[in-house]
Amino acid sequence: MATLTLKELRKQFTPEVVPVKNITLTVEDGEFLTLLGPSGCGKSTLLRLIAGLEQPTAGTVWVGEQNLNAVNPGDRNMAMVFQSYALYPHMTVADNISTSLKLRQVPPAEITQRVRTVADKLDISHLLGRKPRSLSGGQRQRVALARALVRKPDVFLLDEPLSNLDALLREQVRGELKQLFESQNRPVVYVTHDQIEAMTLSSKVAVLLDGLVQQLDPPSRIYTHPANKFVAGFVGSPQ
Ligand code: ADP
Ligand code: MG
Repeated sequence: MATLTLKELRKQFTPEVVPVKNITLTVEDGEFLTLLGPSGCGKSTLLRLIAGLEQPTAGTVWVGEQNLNAVNPGDRNMAMVFQSYALYPHMTVADNISTSLKLRQVPPAEITQRVRTVADKLDISHLLGRKPRSLSGGQRQRVALARALVRKPDVFLLDEPLSNLDALLREQVRGELKQLFESQNRPVVYVTHDQIEAMTLSSKVAVLLDGLVQQLDPPSRIYTHPANKFVAGFVGSPQ
């Protein structure tokens, strides 16, 4: 069990910029929670707080019974996929995927096996010897997903992983993503500003505005019973 819990989380950059005001929520194993909201509403900041890449001004992040506030990002067993993919340009695809396992001193034979399995699952086995710059956007995105999956982390964090793909590819990958991450049976926190993505992928959606959760519900309920005018407008509910 690795329930992710955020308790009264706040991040204040300056007196005026408080992208995360007071957020409390839980994500259970196997749940796919989407943080949905307009650009600049604090989605990436919230994800970075969970990953430990930002320190909260107040509040706590928990996995299971462990308070992670004093745990460095490198020691949090979380895998994050960035919008830009953040692949290492000088490394091959295989090394990009396996580098976190090497750091954790996973035995080489096991690394080879895990990389092979995940590459097979994402249909990138034929790319393992290539460098990122020779790959298409869609292929890079698959490598970034493989790098997250191979770690078998406690928690998956995904920041707009489809936003750099063209519309057709985005639609194809959407269905695949849902299956891929649901089968991991871990908490998934997925960030997007795209309401269609949120509605099709998620088990729960948190609609964010002004640093606060406006509504946290399964997608169908958000659509049929929006909590306020902002939510209704943002997800396109019938008025
Ligand atoms: P989103 O991912 O929803 O588009 P962000 O979390 O990136 O939003 O940003 C929320 C707000 O916080 C924006 O106003 C942004 O300019 C501000 N912000 C983000 N990071 C920093 C930072 N390191 N210093 C100051 N302001 C920041
Ligand atoms: Mg963002």
